[in-house]
Amino acid sequence: MTQMIDGKHVASVLRKQIKEETAQWLNQTGKTPKLSVLIVGENPASQSYVRNKEKSAREVGFTSETIKLPETTTASELLMQIERLNQDDDVHGILVQLPLPKQMDEQAVIGQIAVHKDVDGFHPEQVGALSIGLESLEPCTPAGIVQLLKYYEIEVEGKHAVVVGRSNIVGKPVANMLLKLNATVTVVHSRTKDLASFTKRADILIVAIGKPYFLTADMVKKGAVVIDVGINRTAEGKLVGDVAFETVQKKVSGITPVPGGVGPMTITMLLANTLAAFKKSLTTK
Ligand code: NDP
Repeated sequence: MTQMIDGKHVASVLRKQIKEETAQWLNQTGKTPKLSVLIVGENPASQSYVRNKEKSAREVGFTSETIKLPETTTASELLMQIERLNQDDDVHGILVQLPLPKQMDEQAVIGQIAVHKDVDGFHPEQVGALSIGLESLEPCTPAGIVQLLKYYEIEVEGKHAVVVGRSNIVGKPVANMLLKLNATVTVVHSRTKDLASFTKRADILIVAIGKPYFLTADMVKKGAVVIDVGINRTAEGKLVGDVAFETVQKKVSGITPVPGGVGPMTITMLLANTLAAFKKSLTTK
C-alpha cells in the first residue's frame, strides 16, 4: 500500500508542540519569540506569503510584525532596517521576503542579517555551516522534507536519494541534509543527460524544479518514496506539483500530495527556527 505523506497533519502536530513550548517559555521567562518580516514592493504572491507567515506566527503565540517598504526602496534603506532589527534584542527572527526588486543584490542583503537571527537559513555562514555538518538554522523547505521523512520513519541511511533541481533554497540544501543523514546523494538538473536513468535508481526521490507533471511513472523505481516540492498553477487555476501524482502513486511506497505535502511544512519550520533562535538568545545573554 502506498503511504500518503501528509504534510498538513505533520505540520499541525509540530505547530501544536511549538505552541505548547512557547506558552511554557512565556510562563518561565515572561518573553515570547518575535519574528520580523521585511517585504519590499507589492508582489501579490509575496504579500500573501508574508500574511500567512505573520498569521501562523501569531497562532503559535509568537509576536510578529511585517515591515512593508515601497518598491522604490534603495538597498541602503533596506540595510538600515535590517541593522535596526539586528540590534533589537526583542527580535529573534528576521526574514527578508524574496524576490527583492531588481535594484537589490539579494545575496548582499541576506548577508547583512545577523546570522543568529537568519530564520530562513540563507545567510552564507549558515549555508557553510550546513555543508560542513555544523549546527545551523536550516532552510525551511528542506528542513520540512527531512521532518516528513522522520515522522513517517522512512529510512534514509544507506539509501540512494536523488534530488531533481539544484536551487539554493531547495535542491542544494536538501542534498546536504540527506548526506548528513548518511544517504548516498545524486543531484540532477536541467543540464543532466538522460535524467530518467538517475531517477529510476532512486530509493528516495525529491523533485523541486517547478514543472507541472514532469516526473512520470516510467521515471520511478517501484517502491520508491517520492517527495514533490513543486508548486505550479495550471491554466485552469489548479495547484499541482512536479510529479504526475495519479500514475506515480500506484508505483511507489510513499508520496506527498500537492497541495498538502511539503507546502505546509515550510512555514512550520520557519516557526521552529524562530523558536530555536529565541531559545539560543536566552542562553547567550
Ligand atoms: P528554481 O527555479 O530556483 O530551481 C529550479 C531547479 O530545477 C534548477 O536547479 C533547474 O536546473 C532545475 N530544472 C528546471 N527545469 C528542469 C528540467 N526540465 N529538468 C531537470 N531540472 C530542471 O526553483 P526552486 O528550487 O525555488 O523551486 C522549485 C519548485 O519548488 C517550484 O515549483 C517552487 O514553487 C517550489 N517550491 C515550493 C516550496 C514549498 O514550500 N513547497 C518552497 C520553495 C519552492 P538548473 O539549475 O540547471 O537551471
